[in-house]
Amino acid sequence: MSARIIDGKAIAAASRAHVAQRIAGLGFRPGLTVVLVGDDPASSVYVRSKDRAAQEAGIIVRTIALPGDTLEAVLLAEIGRLNADPEVDGILVQLPLPPHIRTQAVVEAVDPDKDVDGFHPLNIGRLAAGMPSIVPCTPLGVMRLLEAEGVTLSGMRALVVGRSAIVGRPLVALLLSANATVTVAHSRTRDLPEECRRAELLVAAVGQPELVRGDWVRPGAVVVDVGVNRRPDAKLVGDVAFVECAKLASAITPVPGGVGPMTIACLLENTLTAALRRRGG
Ligand code: NAP
Repeated sequence: MSARIIDGKAIAAASRAHVAQRIAGLGFRPGLTVVLVGDDPASSVYVRSKDRAAQEAGIIVRTIALPGDTLEAVLLAEIGRLNADPEVDGILVQLPLPPHIRTQAVVEAVDPDKDVDGFHPLNIGRLAAGMPSIVPCTPLGVMRLLEAEGVTLSGMRALVVGRSAIVGRPLVALLLSANATVTVAHSRTRDLPEECRRAELLVAAVGQPELVRGDWVRPGAVVVDVGVNRRPDAKLVGDVAFVECAKLASAITPVPGGVGPMTIACLLENTLTAALRRRGG
């Protein structure tokens, strides 16, 4: 068997175009403010691509760049101003923050209705309870890829490898709400290869280059690779050994070009959702 390659770039482009089309039909333009503290080069690159994508979709985007030595109290006051600003529908504080700032205090300071990252405990709780909420962009992106591929999740045996607050845990909640039978694996899981072999849907969100090997994949499984890892030879690889696993899977996401492009597409979707909800839509 040779897997169908899930084209995240194309699915993300379609999703972004759909968001742009919906915004064009509104009587207003949603506003997104991105807050960047310090000059971490990777964060600056991410912020620039979010900025560009949001503008292309018709979102009014503003980036507030603060110096790396900004006091936590100053950042919290800035977030307070954005919470109160009626022109701001979405607030995204780019992580990681400098070590002298408590990330959790900042995450909790963002108005949950403007929390387009979906990291606020209220949104996490709503998601865990199966209630409508703003959902973190990367796991939402995984769900959108599966929808676009027509994967029937109801009753499916799914394994999520990784239990982080931003990917693994929210994805477990989303898959459960879609009626999959979900198992979560992590660094203490006793026999990971065997757990993987049972899975009809295998999602890897680990951060270990090519951890999942070809003989861990159940023939016909759908494999989604969230991982982004730089190998010593500078090649970008996922958490899944792509060539080996593609021989057994029925469908598989590549790295790059799989889950990655969906994250920004879902940020745009979340901004639109937040804007509509704030206006009672
Ligand atoms: P994280 O916070 O470091 O969490 C990693 C998870 O993997 C933890 O739950 C950890 O278990 C588990 N784990 C680590 N080694 C393992 C092993 N050998 N066997 C089984 N489980 C293991 O990472 P994250 O933020 O979720 O990110 C995961 C990957 O996704 C990274 O490569 C990251 O770069 C990528 N990512 C991509 C996007 C995107 O847009 N495409 C967005 C976010 C993240 P414990 O809980 O037991 O420690």
